[in-house]
Amino acid sequence: MYSKQKSSRFRTVTLRLTVWYAALSGALSAVVFLTVFLALRSSLDRRTDLELLSKVEEFEALYTSRGSQALVAEFQREAGSQGAGRVFFRLLSPTGEVIVASNLRAWHGLENIVPSLPGPLMEAVTFQTLSVPGRRHQVRMVLKRAPDGRVIQVGVALRNNELLAEKYWETFAMALGLMLVCGGLVGWLVARRAMSGVERVTQAAVHIGKSDLNRLVPLGHKGREIEELALAFNSMLERIQALVRELKGVTNNIAHDLRTPITRIRGIAETTLTGEADLAAYREMAGAVIEESDRLVEMINTMLEIAQAESGVAKFTISPVDVRKIIQGARELFLSVAEDKGVRLEAELPSEPLSVLGDLPRLQRVMANLLDNAIKYTAAGGRVSLAARANGSRVIIEVTDTGAGIPPAEIPRIFDRFYRGDKSRSAPGSGLGLSLALAVVRAQGGDITVSSEPGRGSTFAVSLPRASSNK
Ligand code: ADP
Repeated sequence: MYSKQKSSRFRTVTLRLTVWYAALSGALSAVVFLTVFLALRSSLDRRTDLELLSKVEEFEALYTSRGSQALVAEFQREAGSQGAGRVFFRLLSPTGEVIVASNLRAWHGLENIVPSLPGPLMEAVTFQTLSVPGRRHQVRMVLKRAPDGRVIQVGVALRNNELLAEKYWETFAMALGLMLVCGGLVGWLVARRAMSGVERVTQAAVHIGKSDLNRLVPLGHKGREIEELALAFNSMLERIQALVRELKGVTNNIAHDLRTPITRIRGIAETTLTGEADLAAYREMAGAVIEESDRLVEMINTMLEIAQAESGVAKFTISPVDVRKIIQGARELFLSVAEDKGVRLEAELPSEPLSVLGDLPRLQRVMANLLDNAIKYTAAGGRVSLAARANGSRVIIEVTDTGAGIPPAEIPRIFDRFYRGDKSRSAPGSGLGLSLALAVVRAQGGDITVSSEPGRGSTFAVSLPRASSNK
């Protein structure tokens, strides 16, 4: 169903572009043709008028110098040479009655037309375009008043001009048809080309949605917009992939790691139910159940926090925080723990205020996790130190210990959820401390790196964005 919707949508866009291109090229060619036609017509009209004027002036000169007999002879001669059906000449009285004329056999309708006479002034001229009954083409005529008040009229059928215009419109119609087809074709090709990129992205997206969420939309070279669409799609896919990974991780953790404490709780409860212990033993077992349950709740809460931080759902209150405050707070919190274990806890505070952009309570929690580990994995007589320094636009907070260190093979895995080093299993812990620290620091634009040498100690370096205003 989806692919049907998709193909009809593409068809519509392609069709619309095709129609647009065709209409646009049609309209453009119509404008061009119309402009050319108007220019051509006005030039033809001007030429006709000039010819008419020169002819009427020629007749007038003849009439003035040699009289009406000579004019009539000239009328006949000229009509004979130009074609009596094409032109006519008349000499009219001052009020418009015909005195003499050329051969008017082809001009029957002329008698019914009242000519628009030029004004009474000598040399006055009028032009007129008329339809003469019985003639297919219009007639253009000029009337000129001779010095004696009579009027000489010269008329010509606009046949050639009109035939030319007809030919022109025929050509235009053909050209318009061609332009519509070509415009439509270009529009179709452009639309197909543009749509093929979108189609590629859509097909890939549909395929990915149906079969394999771990793939990305392949990038091509179909233009920036399409590539941006593909990139936007891929970043969305990457986010979905991260969420799916997250979900799988949490599901696996629930399946494997949470089952153990629950089984333990069940075991205790079963022993309590079946055994015949005294009240004190029952109390002890109930206490153990509560303890295990608390641990379980704590683990679930930490897992939720990690998932929220990793998926970007967790809300952070980011503000400039002086790292000296973080370090001092952590040191105060763990001083007695370190003392009890016989580990020296040192803090090297920067002399100047040094601020990071972060969420204070969460950063304190990160420091507590790192310090807790450092003290936990350092034997009595060892040393744990805290330090901070600026590094360009970042601030590095380091927790260094002289403890057991981490074998190189374990380093890539210590940030995994529930991972516990081989030698650390005897120490208390859930294997979630570092995962939470890393997720929380990354969610604030930071990172944690570790360098360690087995038997000599480890350094955990937390890098965070430095606040620009260090007060
Ligand atoms: P936990 O400490 O509860 O086991 P963590 O996630 O905090 O879980 O740490 C994961 C593992 O990384 C630990 O089990 C331990 O093997 C190793 N580790 C972490 N910090 C240190 C350290 N400071 N020194 C040595 N090993 C460490």
